[in-house]
Amino acid sequence: MPKRIEYLVIHCTATPEKRPVSRQDIERWHLKERGWDRLGYSDLIHLDGRLENLTPYDTDSLIEQHEMTWGVKGINAISRHVVYAGGTDAYGRPKDTLTPAQRETLKDYVRFMVRRYPWIKVAGHNFFVRKACPCFDWRKFLREEARLPEKNIA
Ligand SMILES: [Zn+2]
Repeated sequence: MPKRIEYLVIHCTATPEKRPVSRQDIERWHLKERGWDRLGYSDLIHLDGRLENLTPYDTDSLIEQHEMTWGVKGINAISRHVVYAGGTDAYGRPKDTLTPAQRETLKDYVRFMVRRYPWIKVAGHNFFVRKACPCFDWRKFLREEARLPEKNIA
């Protein structure tokens, strides 16, 4: 039985700032190199702020089998994953590389998802696992830029 969406999880591609990332890049990393049977993300936010759907989903609140993505092991049945291109400096060190256009898109995106699913919590990948992803202060962003209600911030 499909479960209801509970988390919207924000990721970065962990690639150097200003480097474009395509759907084909993510397919190569996840399907070819990792050998997964699907991608890790539902949507990709490009450097110019363009939002690209990677894994189709419908508008109801259930995460059906075909809508699932492999973003964070253990919670994928109740989560949707969004990724932005970037997340490191030229040497691969974690860095907030969100462009102004990406910040705008991410802001609209999380606000839209919270309007559609008012019970969800929005979190960065590092809320669940000890790692740098998504490489920016997502709580501050969700509070001060996206102005989400506190109950929607993990
Ligand atoms: Zn991540």
